[in-house]
Order: sequence, then C-alpha cells, then structure tokens
Amino acid sequence: MQHVSRRQLGATVGVLALAVGSIIATNSAAAQGADQAATTADRGSTLQAARPAVPRNRSVVILNGDGMGPAQRTFIQYALYGTVKTQPMDSLPHNGQLRTHSADPAFVTDSGAGATAWATGHKTLNDRVGVDTKGKALRSILEEARAAGKTTALVEDHDVTNATMAAFAAHQKNRDHKVAIARDYLYRTHPDLMFGGGQKIWYPKGTQGPVPGEDPSEGKTNLVKVAKKQGYQYAYNRKTFAKLTGPKALALVRDDGIEYSEEVKGYQKSKDPYYVAEHLLVKKALQIASQNPRGFFMAIDVDEIDDGGHDHDGPLMLKAGRELNRIVTVLRKFQASHPETLIIVTADHETGGMTIEDKADGGAGVAPDDPEPYYDEDHPRNVQIDGKLPVDSGPFKVKNMNRKFTLDWTTAEHSGVAVPVSAIGPNAASLEGIHDNTYVYKVMRRTLFGS
Ligand SMILES: [Zn+2]
Repeated sequence: MQHVSRRQLGATVGVLALAVGSIIATNSAAAQGADQAATTADRGSTLQAARPAVPRNRSVVILNGDGMGPAQRTFIQYALYGTVKTQPMDSLPHNGQLRTHSADPAFVTDSGAGATAWATGHKTLNDRVGVDTKGKALRSILEEARAAGKTTALVEDHDVTNATMAAFAAHQKNRDHKVAIARDYLYRTHPDLMFGGGQKIWYPKGTQGPVPGEDPSEGKTNLVKVAKKQGYQYAYNRKTFAKLTGPKALALVRDDGIEYSEEVKGYQKSKDPYYVAEHLLVKKALQIASQNPRGFFMAIDVDEIDDGGHDHDGPLMLKAGRELNRIVTVLRKFQASHPETLIIVTADHETGGMTIEDKADGGAGVAPDDPEPYYDEDHPRNVQIDGKLPVDSGPFKVKNMNRKFTLDWTTAEHSGVAVPVSAIGPNAASLEGIHDNTYVYKVMRRTLFGS
C-alpha cells in the first residue's frame, strides 16, 4: 500500500538473475503460440470451433487513472468542464463500478495487486506484480495476446517499469525491483511497445541516459543496448520519438513530466524537448499497434492522479486529469474508426480518501487535511497552516460558473472505496453494474479470444 515516489525511493533495486533456459523456453512457447493462433485463425480448426468466434483483429485498451475514485472524477469534471459539458471519460456509453480489495491480509489494495487482478483475474498480495499470493507467476492477458500474435503495448506517464505496467508484463514479488521488472520485459514477456519514463532503471550505474535532470542510473547492465539488439527502436526525446515506426519500440522520455514541472523552478514542459505528453505517446502506440491485422492489447497508466492523491495536491490532479481526458479523446476517435477495439477507462483504487466540500465548510478552524500528507516537505502548499485551508486543497472554481468548492482528505494512502469503470466497444455493456476488479480480466479475455 505504501507509495514510494521517484524522489523518495533510494537505490532499493533488486536484480533477478533469470535462468537462461527458462528465457528460451518462454520465448519459444510464445512464438509457438503465435503460430498456432495464426493457423487457427486461418483455417478454423476445432480449437476455434470450441470458442465463440471473434474477429481476428479484436483489440483491447485499458486506461488506468491511478487513484481515480468517484471524487477525483467528479473534481476533474467540475473544475475543468463545469456543470453542463461532460468530460470525455464520463461520456463513454457504458458505466459501472469495481470493488478493488486485494488478497488477505491487506484489504486496501496497492497498484501492483490492483493491476494484477485485471491482468490475470487473480487477487494477490500488495506489492506483487503478475504473481499469485505464493509468488508464482500468473500468465497475463498481455502474454496471452502476444501468444495469439497480437501487438502488445505499455504506455505510462511515470516510469514504464511502474507497478501498474509491471502487473501486465512482469512477474515479481516486489514492485520496487524495477531492474528485474525491466529484465522481465526484455527476456520474458516482450511487450512490443514500451513508452514512458524511468531511464535510470535501464542504464547501468555511472552511465547517465540522455534525458537530463533525471535521477542517477540504478541498473546493472545497459538494458537499452539489449533492447536495441533485440530489434527495439529507441527514443528519448520528441525528435527521436517522432521517428518511431515500430513494430517494436522503447521510448524513455521525461519521467512524471507534470509533477516535475511543479517541483522544478523555471521548468516548462512545453519547452522541454524530452517531455512527450502522454496522449501523444498513446497516439503513436495506436498508430503502430493498429498496423497488426491480428489486433493488439494496450495498457495505459496515468500515475500522476495518484501522486495528486498522496500529495493532497488538487492542482496536480487537475493537470493529470486534463491529460487523461485528452487520452480518452484520442482513444475514442481511434475506436470510432476501429470498432473492434474495446476501450476501458477505470482506476486501480482511490487515493487520499478525497471528497468535495462546500467552500464555506473548508475555512479556518476546520481540519480540511487530516492527516497531513507525508510529502509535506516537498509540498508545503498542501499542509494546513494555522488552521487554514491548504492552498492545494482549494478553493477551486467550478468551470464557467461563479461557484467554488474545496477538497478534503482522510488519508495520505489509498482507500478501499469502489471505483468507476467506463467503456466503449465490444463487450463494453458487460461492465455495467458492480463487479470485482478480477472481472475486468474476464471481459478483456472474452473480447480478445471469445472465452
Ligand atoms: Zn495505483
């Protein structure tokens, strides 16, 4: 459950030594699976007859607004869109809720267990990614998609080895073992497209990657070199990113650019050649992935909404929410011309125990920020001083209206409330109602493979 920020996290990086034998076995099994899927799709074998037929180009995109509970969504709606116009994520036609609890003994989930439930259909312990409660690897929807010859993609605003991404494409007991997660990507699960930040994980200690102003490298070997050898195109800024054509590509650009712009004085992300807005990462990933006639699977994470929750930082949440809505707009436009694509927009959990209050309730003498977030040294604006409302908790103006509201918080951690899920495309209607988060796996699987 504990959230560790890029700037707090030291060099707690573990490296998993992978047995070469198992790497080869995994690779050839995946390749074989792809061949079988191709044969099956082409001639319609008994295997296919056993499953309800689905179009060969069926695709799934799951977009995680990390930490985006009902209050976060409502906050973004009011502050950025007002009371009349509906924000893109709320305009999707099918809506429901997901319960998010992780496996015993913890109850409130972290991002690792939350995304593992989607990726594998199994509950696991917090801090685990792509493994069960005993630590055994669980085959993920991304691996199944790859075995069927589909393109697979990870897109992230934070490091691409982040827990949400890792749940789909790694098998680790500890989400903080990021170098081992990157190695899993390259040697075990082979996502075709990996777009995000976190170059420090991919470069060895002492070798700083090309993106300036990032934390020192933590890796053991040069995994960028390994990726290139494996046929991945590599990008690290706007120029190199614009040149990516696929079918395999690794982009390690500015990590957490929106939060970086809040923390680094004088920094403007619009002028940073190493910052690529996440909706542009998504656009490129769709362009490349949609060239595959067998379709694709794509997982996207907007982690900075979760950062805003942990930090009790309303303005950061709004900036991330604006970007998330841009991504939804890109996805929706794509879906209109690629109707075989299921788009799911949801959250792994809520963060901050956040709620929305009338401005009159949030003034002096009321505790609007209880307890204070643990990032207060970096974020003095979100701490309550002399009983006054912290600056980052409001008041916020309702867009196009002369009315204001404030935010209140119950925790600096995640909470256990159910989260909204919205969808469009094949099987989207089956996400209506209230379901467990493991149900998302079933819907994605049925969409891609028929069962
Ligand atoms: Zn999360």
